[in-house]
Amino acid sequence: MIFLDAAATTPVRREALEAMWPYLSGEFGNPSSHHTLGEAAAAALAGARAGVAKILNCRAGEVTFTSGGTEADNLAVKGIALARRLADPSLNRVVISAIEHPAVEESARYLERVHGFIVDVLPVDGEGMVSVEGLSAVLRPDTALVSIMYANNEIGTVQPVSALAAVARKHGVPFHTDAVQAAGWLPLDVKALGVDALSMSGHKIGAPKGSGVLFTKGRLRVEPLVHGGGQERGRRSGTENVAGAVALSTALSLASAEQPEQAARVSGLRDQFIERIRAGIAGAVVTGHRLQRLPSVASFCFPGTSGESVLLELERLGVVCSSGSACAAGSDTPSPVLVALGIAPETAQTAVRFSFTSTVTGSELDQAADAVETAVGRVRNLASPQAG
Ligand code: PLP
Repeated sequence: MIFLDAAATTPVRREALEAMWPYLSGEFGNPSSHHTLGEAAAAALAGARAGVAKILNCRAGEVTFTSGGTEADNLAVKGIALARRLADPSLNRVVISAIEHPAVEESARYLERVHGFIVDVLPVDGEGMVSVEGLSAVLRPDTALVSIMYANNEIGTVQPVSALAAVARKHGVPFHTDAVQAAGWLPLDVKALGVDALSMSGHKIGAPKGSGVLFTKGRLRVEPLVHGGGQERGRRSGTENVAGAVALSTALSLASAEQPEQAARVSGLRDQFIERIRAGIAGAVVTGHRLQRLPSVASFCFPGTSGESVLLELERLGVVCSSGSACAAGSDTPSPVLVALGIAPETAQTAVRFSFTSTVTGSELDQAADAVETAVGRVRNLASPQAG
């Protein structure tokens, strides 16, 4: 099987598994316990936090461990907007882009529905880019937060995060970025990016599902969503997932060390793959940005097919990928991300996303490209046999 669905999830790296194992077995203490077992767990958690902080170039106290990217996004969007509104009741708006992951989009909609916020949605161009001037124009004195993703999970477009964050900073508005897909592929230095908050997920970079991180800068207040014993400096109560945090920190350190080389290597393979598909399949349309895209994502529409049928055909041929984002899979409505790019709904239904792990090889992608040509040909033949 050739696995080209790494944007959905990745296998746990052996090093991460080995690093976490002691905290699932012999060193099983609760980090809040005042005995040696608890202290060992607390030390492991502190080590994991320091490891993440080193990669993000922030202080350990600015790192909150969460149950994943979804929780980190919820905590950022709801937690920061609500804390700011508590401090200043005039703050009433949040800005997001039109192509956010549902974890951000639905958090903003919750603020609208339950807390009366107004959500300003920034449009994107045909390649999925947010405009820096567009952000400047939409910011107002009553804006509480901006949340714009670093890299998109369906089309791979990478936003100009540092320029966007600089605009928000000029207006005195905190800037959050969802870096779930960027992690492992793009630099995550929060100072260089100039962001106030950044979310990450462990299972996209070789740590287990159920592990995540939210960075929040300095004294930026975050209203907690989960109340209880006050763990994670009161930002996220609940006994910490020590093993998950250790695995995430290990996987993140490895991915960051490998990142420059792997990003260059996989970008080259991605470009070859895209060229092969474009040359081999009549009418294939690449979605997302030509240049500013994740090394790991190649996404297409294949007019005259349905994405789901191509997916099934590809699986028969031994290639696993996605017809859109995993979270939207199974629904009949076209992807809101593709619709936001201006792609017609009937074309959006033909979308297929290939996303690569850092260990993908050229020969796997050659085989996959052959399989894609075969699969699209078969589906098109079934749709209109006379044409074949
Ligand atoms: N944000 C983006 C951009 C994602 O791609 C995903 C998952 O696909 C998430 C957030 C949610 O992360 P998690 O699966 O860890 O909840």
